[in-house]
Amino acid sequence: MTTPEYDNDNIFAKILRGEMPSFKVYEDDHTYAFMDIMPRAPGHCLVIPKVPCRNLLDADTESLGHVIATAQKIARAGMKAFDADGITVQQFNEDAGGQIVFHYHVHVIPRHEGVKMGPPGVMGDMDEIKANGEKLAAEVL
Ligand code: AMP
Repeated sequence: MTTPEYDNDNIFAKILRGEMPSFKVYEDDHTYAFMDIMPRAPGHCLVIPKVPCRNLLDADTESLGHVIATAQKIARAGMKAFDADGITVQQFNEDAGGQIVFHYHVHVIPRHEGVKMGPPGVMGDMDEIKANGEKLAAEVL
């Protein structure tokens, strides 16, 4: 299968354009990091490039580098902010690969020893997500 075209109206494109709200954690010239509203664990954050691309398959290598550099910042902040024991990084590509939103994104999820991730697709408590976003943002160097 060839990779389908980027859709300018996907949710994350709208977030980048400020047409949809998000809990911002960090932003630089190339990337934007914000809280996942269906967190698999407290502090679950998403990192996206500002340039339009669907996923790993069509992203340019420079953007991949920018995104992983920001993911590292968020991961380090997550370790501190949530006194985490580890970090899970996830990234899905196309329907068959588990992707739901078609703007390239990396999940950065703080983890604790012996605690399983929650199920996907469950809406979180917005006040809690906002507070966790602020905690995380405060630790980003
Ligand atoms: P996936 O494409 O499989 O990586 O899944 C998309 C992720 O985006 C899921 O973890 C959703 O909870 C998350 N998500 C969907 N809509 C929003 C939104 N408006 N703001 C923040 N996260 C979102």
